[in-house]
Amino acid sequence: MCQHLWLAKNLWNDLLEHSKELYRNFDKFPTRNSLQLMVKDTGMFSQTSQEIAHRVENGIWRYMKLRKAGNKKAGFPRFRSADRMKSLNYPQFGFFLEKKLKVNPFGEIPIVRHREVNGKIKTLTLKREASGKWFACFAVEEPPAIRLANGGSRIGIDLGLRVLATLSNGSKINNPRHIRKHQEKIAFLQRLSNRKKKGGKNRVRAKQKVAVEFEKLKNVRRDFLHKLSKNLVDSYSFIALEDLASQELAEQNFGKQIYDAGWGELADMLRYKAESAGCEIMFVNPKDTTKTCCICGNMADMPLAVRIYDCHNCGNHMDRDLNAAYNILKRATAGSAESNACGDVSKKTSVKQEAIASPSGRLGQFTTLQPLS
Ligand SMILES: [Zn+2]
Repeated sequence: MCQHLWLAKNLWNDLLEHSKELYRNFDKFPTRNSLQLMVKDTGMFSQTSQEIAHRVENGIWRYMKLRKAGNKKAGFPRFRSADRMKSLNYPQFGFFLEKKLKVNPFGEIPIVRHREVNGKIKTLTLKREASGKWFACFAVEEPPAIRLANGGSRIGIDLGLRVLATLSNGSKINNPRHIRKHQEKIAFLQRLSNRKKKGGKNRVRAKQKVAVEFEKLKNVRRDFLHKLSKNLVDSYSFIALEDLASQELAEQNFGKQIYDAGWGELADMLRYKAESAGCEIMFVNPKDTTKTCCICGNMADMPLAVRIYDCHNCGNHMDRDLNAAYNILKRATAGSAESNACGDVSKKTSVKQEAIASPSGRLGQFTTLQPLS
């Protein structure tokens, strides 16, 4: 299977090189058919190589489309090194799952079943992790189950770095401590491996240890996010979140850390779990959710170090993230019958009443929150 990954990598690079050359010489990219013709007799299962041709074609096509739409950051598909090619795909046939897994052309592969497969199996992906473990992932087709709203309340969630998630009902969810532990261990192992001689066996071994630890961290974090997202969609009927796709947000929040915090993963999980749990997810524009007072709509500058929102206009004294979570909920429910919205300045009088009428019981508690260390 490792050999086939290597073949897949070479095929990917060859197809890409061919496409680039065609473009250089004739100012056009290859058609799907011409790519398909190139992937015969690769040594891999036919559909697996065809799937690679599809991916190359789609990558180029996506790039062209984004470029046309004026997106200058759109990247052309890249050449891959051996460790960047991680999976072999079986989009239709070539495999059979009974007691064991039979895969063309590898024959029977002993597997450990993590769960029973329900529904009709459509595709198989053989995936190799950096740690060297292989996984067989099946995509299945299941008739959709229709659920009614689960009757829970509505909340807004502010995603942050110090606190992973702050709910508009006042609860805070932190990344569990063992995630921090794994991160520290990875940093330690990385330092260790950097001290080994370059190109030496010991360095390879040390790097492998880092990869194994990375995989553990990934699993631990994913497990935590799965449980958290399941819990949220089961408990609430409506969840409002910041739209993380927003470029602005990524720039505001120091780029990379966003992804490290697992926000995107959490948002994705909420999105796909919501429907079957009778919960609705809404994404709102994150602009100024931190700077706006959630009671009177006044604006104030909020540098990251300021943990409490103090409103000079209405006297609102509230935890920073909580204020943001509130604004997110307001933005999502603005205009609906059960609106908690009060941002509109022209409705200023009704605003305060509403804030006092519905959430004030909790607002009282919020004011006692201490700044986070
Ligand atoms: Zn205010």
